Amino acid sequence: MLTGMQIVVIGGDARQLEVIKKLTELDASIYLIGFEQLDHGFTGAVKKELSEIDFTKVDSIILPVPGTNHEGKVDTVFSNEEIMLTEELIKLTPPHCVVFSGISNVYLDTITSERNLVQLFERDDVAIYNSIPTVEGAIMMVIQHTDFTIHNSKTLVLGLGRVGMSTARAFHALGANVYVGARRSEHLARISEMGLIPFHLDDLETYASDADTILNTIPARIVTASVISKMPTHGLIIDLASKPGGTDFRYAEKRGIKALLAPGLPGIVAPKTAGKIVANVISSLLQELKLERKGN
Ligand code: NAP
Repeated sequence: MLTGMQIVVIGGDARQLEVIKKLTELDASIYLIGFEQLDHGFTGAVKKELSEIDFTKVDSIILPVPGTNHEGKVDTVFSNEEIMLTEELIKLTPPHCVVFSGISNVYLDTITSERNLVQLFERDDVAIYNSIPTVEGAIMMVIQHTDFTIHNSKTLVLGLGRVGMSTARAFHALGANVYVGARRSEHLARISEMGLIPFHLDDLETYASDADTILNTIPARIVTASVISKMPTHGLIIDLASKPGGTDFRYAEKRGIKALLAPGLPGIVAPKTAGKIVANVISSLLQELKLERKGN
């Protein structure tokens, strides 16, 4: 339980509602900033203005996935007000205060440098759980943009990280002939162990020459013009890597190969699950923090 903890939730989208729900269930005192248009029934959560919060008593600040922009502005879909998170506010918080955000930037890193900033999307647990709705979104996109089945198709998955592994496994389970490209020998060994066909990324052009679908998870320019030029004309590229992706989209368009960048799939195909993933991790970290503080 989080009884006695004071938590400020600032801005965000539908995913934040799952966080608020979970933390109120755990009996935390929640202050909602930037939610005035939200019609909610969360007992224990109170809508406030930023100026009404006594930050000296705040145990945690929860920001939306993007954190702040480079000037400190926080995204708020349930409010028209501009909400700015400043260094002065963070400095008022007690030293144990934990700030949660999906990702960070130089501004947020700087203003929280003397506090504990948790970037949720950098954590393995969040990334692995998030890979589940990401893969479901990828399957949806492949079905929408092809006139052939996934079953029996030649599917190249590029990268064996957290998203790559889940993608390769799911497409294999759907009956695709899955080839996974990686550069590390231990990854090639793991791909083989998974019953999939490994290839070194240096050989991507050869493997792309008869690929029906390429699913890229590598956040680096890997699906180059040269690779695309070898693909069959019916080939589809779904780029799951973060913006700008790893594909030469300009060249793909010129050659008439369908190539789609597909960011933010968990929030699009399963916002409720995406919110629960974040809510579960935040609540267990806050419970650990509470236990630690009790122990000291
Ligand atoms: P990850 O676990 O770090 O995996 C990244 C993979 O890319 C690793 O296999 C890594 O191999 C490889 N890689 C990185 N740089 C490379 C390079 N220059 N050349 C060759 N291989 C390289 O990351 P992840 O969690 O799987 O996420 C992958 C991408 O998907 C990220 O950009 C992430 O932001 C994005 N993502 C997108 C969605 C969506 O909805 N589309 C959802 C979640 C995540 P090495 O170990 O050899 O470096």
